[in-house]
Amino acid sequence: MADFEIFVYYISMNKKVLLTGDRPTGPLHIGHLFGSLLSRKELESEYESYVMVADIQALTDNFEHPDKIRENVYEITADNLAIGLNPEKTTFFIQSQIPHIAELTVFYSNLVTINTLKRNPTVKAEVAQKTELFGKEGESLTYGFLGYPVSQAADITIVRASIVPVGEEQLPMIEQTREIVEKFHRVYKCAIFPIPQGKLSKGSRIMGLDGNAKMSKSLNNAIYLKDSPEETIVKIKTAKTDSESTVGFDPKKRPEISNLVLIFSLIYNIDPKEAVKELGKINYSAFKLKLAEDLNNYLAPIREKRKDLKPEYIREVLESGRKKVLIKAEETMSLVRKAMKIDY
Ligand code: ATP
Ligand code: MG
Repeated sequence: MADFEIFVYYISMNKKVLLTGDRPTGPLHIGHLFGSLLSRKELESEYESYVMVADIQALTDNFEHPDKIRENVYEITADNLAIGLNPEKTTFFIQSQIPHIAELTVFYSNLVTINTLKRNPTVKAEVAQKTELFGKEGESLTYGFLGYPVSQAADITIVRASIVPVGEEQLPMIEQTREIVEKFHRVYKCAIFPIPQGKLSKGSRIMGLDGNAKMSKSLNNAIYLKDSPEETIVKIKTAKTDSESTVGFDPKKRPEISNLVLIFSLIYNIDPKEAVKELGKINYSAFKLKLAEDLNNYLAPIREKRKDLKPEYIREVLESGRKKVLIKAEETMSLVRKAMKIDY
């Protein structure tokens, strides 16, 4: 059989691949939980699943804070394990431990123009948010940060993933990956990668408690999975709302209260409009108290499990993942090098 036929045979014999990841810039919050972690759990048996700890990507805008990134590599692995992902089914690995990703990033960087990267809506929004880091007009924007969508394409394709469960703001990144893959296939006359699809969940964009469009580790507007019940109550009590008095769901006109209703509806896995009906004519402070209590009950088993995870166990999970991914990455890179005629 020719190499390509062997490859087609290989993918038809195996489960499709899922890859997703988190940046170790801080512990994970309920935006991650509802936006991506729960889908990972739901899909981990159906797919050959990978969760990548994106330390290189985190360093692109945190290169001066290596201690923070290192510490959070273990924090976010703990968060993922605490929500019940099974390391027998989901392979966890650290991005920088797979040098093939960096190699593939270099090859992909020829296939993307600077202007395409500058126009990427997620990059644009993030640059605007980081004025203290990149300057007002983005004049200190680094080559590394601008190029992170290219490196993300390498993350996804190094394990030849078909599906990528992500939050809404990541869709332009998946689109960028698709463009790179299609161009790679066209230029090097091959078809070695699946064309990856993003997968959104019902909580694909949880807003910040401060009214910011996105709950984010970097914005200090989040409820973390590892927060105590008391911290959770204080955060919800002081969350921004509007001047109306009773609960409703209208994300355009009343974004902040709608976001809290959305969180409530996700806890019970119901439609937000149905949640409003169930809640009835409840005022904001009574609703906030109920939401905090219900969220604390919902998160209790996750928080409990998280406390029991031993650091040695977390390291073992990452080490066995590293070994497994290295084999797959080498396989991918031999296909890539052959297609690019650099398999000397
Ligand atoms: P940072 O501010 O450092 O970028 P982050 O909070 O955006 O941190 P990431 O590690 O970049 O978190 O994102 C990990 C995954 O979680 C991605 O799939 C992302 O789309 C999803 N995600 C992040 N924040 C939210 C949110 N507020 N709502 C839904 N999904 C989210
Ligand atoms: Mg992010």
